Amino acid sequence: MSTLDSILRETRSFDPAEDFRRKATVSGPDAYYALCEQADDHYLSFWGDLARELISWKKPFSRVLDDSNAPFFKWFDDGVLNVSYNCLDRHLAVNANKIALIFEADDGDVTRVTYSELHRRVCQFANGLKSLGVSKGDRVVIYMPMVIEAIVAMQACARIGAIHSVVFGGFSAGAVHDRIQDAGAKVVVTANEGLRGGKIVPLKAMVDEALAMPGSETVIATVVYQRTNNGASTWHDGRDIWWHKLIDGQPESCEPEWMQADDPLFILYTSGSTGRPKGIQHSSAGYLLGALNSFRWVFDYKPSDVFWCTADVGWITGHSYVCYGPLGMGATQVIFEGVPTYPDAGRFWRMIEQHKVTTFYTAPTAIRTLIKLGAELPKQYDLSSLRLLGTVGEPINPEAWMWYYEMVGGERCPIVDTWWQTETGSAMIAPLPGAIATKPGSCTLPLPGIMADIVDESGAPVEPGKGGFLVIKRPFPSLVRTIWNDPERFKSTYFPEEFNGQYYLAGDSANRDESGYFWIMGRIDDVLNVSGHRLGTMEIESALVANPLVAEAAVVGKPHEVKGEAVVAFVVLKGPRPTGEEAKRLTAELKNWVAHEIGKLAQPDDIRFGDNLPKTRSGKIMRRLLRAIARGEEIAQDVSTLENPQILSQLQESAS
Ligand code: ATP
Ligand code: MG
Repeated sequence: MSTLDSILRETRSFDPAEDFRRKATVSGPDAYYALCEQADDHYLSFWGDLARELISWKKPFSRVLDDSNAPFFKWFDDGVLNVSYNCLDRHLAVNANKIALIFEADDGDVTRVTYSELHRRVCQFANGLKSLGVSKGDRVVIYMPMVIEAIVAMQACARIGAIHSVVFGGFSAGAVHDRIQDAGAKVVVTANEGLRGGKIVPLKAMVDEALAMPGSETVIATVVYQRTNNGASTWHDGRDIWWHKLIDGQPESCEPEWMQADDPLFILYTSGSTGRPKGIQHSSAGYLLGALNSFRWVFDYKPSDVFWCTADVGWITGHSYVCYGPLGMGATQVIFEGVPTYPDAGRFWRMIEQHKVTTFYTAPTAIRTLIKLGAELPKQYDLSSLRLLGTVGEPINPEAWMWYYEMVGGERCPIVDTWWQTETGSAMIAPLPGAIATKPGSCTLPLPGIMADIVDESGAPVEPGKGGFLVIKRPFPSLVRTIWNDPERFKSTYFPEEFNGQYYLAGDSANRDESGYFWIMGRIDDVLNVSGHRLGTMEIESALVANPLVAEAAVVGKPHEVKGEAVVAFVVLKGPRPTGEEAKRLTAELKNWVAHEIGKLAQPDDIRFGDNLPKTRSGKIMRRLLRAIARGEEIAQDVSTLENPQILSQLQESAS
């Protein structure tokens, strides 16, 4: 059948340090396998017990799973709860004065907020939203910088049962408009301006532009948080209201709206690496359970931790591991307004030192950038508070993993490489760090209760070492409930007929090694077919990144008369972009390198050098655009979620 060939051989493996293992919540492999067995044997009571243990219910549920209308699954459906109550109120009895948020602004200013203070702020803003006429089920678009108020706005929506749709503050007016229109938003929450890397982001002006476009008529009010002293460029009386005026005089408590377990908590549009973004609709209880449980297991959460996830709340990672998971567990966390390279590439390391961060979670793109800009910089900081590191968003190339492990983690911190998606709501495949040995480049093993597998086109499991479709064979609580306004697309995208509509199809390709570890090979859409061998993108890219000169690489296929497809590689060097003779020499060198590392089959026919690669705003490489460039095609595709559009012309010109 149509499996993939795996060519990468990675043999390094790292057991958790003895001290880490001893103190871990899930300690040693036996504990992990025992949990898996429980889930296998008693799937529903496994999840039911966790839901009773981790969530505070207003009214308990009587049924765990309703699969009568598959794939529109319902979990805990007659249970009643409020997510914001679970994130705030329930901590107040003992942890009212615990720090919830350590906010570091772009300019370095630090603000600390306790749980009781956060509760007060959320209640006031929730009352403010109600005064505008927002009620249960209404949609609120949140288009904010990464500041405390972004989290307050999300929690306030959860408190009154409004469905939030957070739009990343780096998106343009067009992207904001599309999301407002698709969600039928009633209110937009924004800031006059944002600050990122010393630059001003004109958020309010973008909202004005978005609201001027047809299709935004559902919006009755925009709430504007004053982040900078500049005021707002334009003002629409009767529609626009300042945040501080809205909450002025509002009561400091707000009775939560009690929700059915499956009532939608939020919609979040996927990051758009592969096409038109989808409005991923998540539930209240099932989603919360996934966020809480994965947070405590994968990050081995301890009440004394200082957790820092660098993701913006505009991404699912910022929902599950900033807004909901850590707050739901009563954690102390750092949130950061700025960017890793401002004022210099030591920013992250300085912040870890200053705030004594114990658990640090970031993206491979940030790691590769920081290697390129200052591989030795972490040495200048005291990073001894760290005990655990994590990554998410893309496959991490083994050499970047090794650098992270050695230079940042001091060879003492396990790395949790967490595979998951907007659609899965919480981490799916990731090591429980006190239980499982890690291998650079592998997300290791599924969490207990997650029935992940790799299958061929007919749905049959593939043998170890062969790549295929990554699927999850049973529904789980934090799985997407539907695509907003598009149930048909939900069914055909995620539960296609080919697999009898039974398996959740993730859209990624992966293989498993002899010990059952998962290795993500890339997106199904990006698979290459070279001389009859189907190859994922990740392995060839990782071979390139293993070369000491290379910082980042992306590979795509282009049609080839003999081979079917030829490999084209786009490469960013650690040093300056080479041109002319130098580029030719390096092209030959890198071709040989790949042939030597993983085989002649994977050798690129063509290598192009850029200062950077086209990426989504969340830092993911957009291979579909590179494919068009490699083929010399016009770029007729949607580039609205692209971080750096100007890079496209450089890569087009660099054709030799
Ligand atoms: P779209 O679905 O609109 O194309 P997207 O898939 O980039 O956008 P996300 O849900 O943010 O949107 O990203 C999920 C994807 O990111 C996964 O399907 C996978 O391809 C990749 N990914 C995330 N974490 C990892 C990881 N640890 N290892 C490998 N790949 C990962
Ligand atoms: Mg996706």
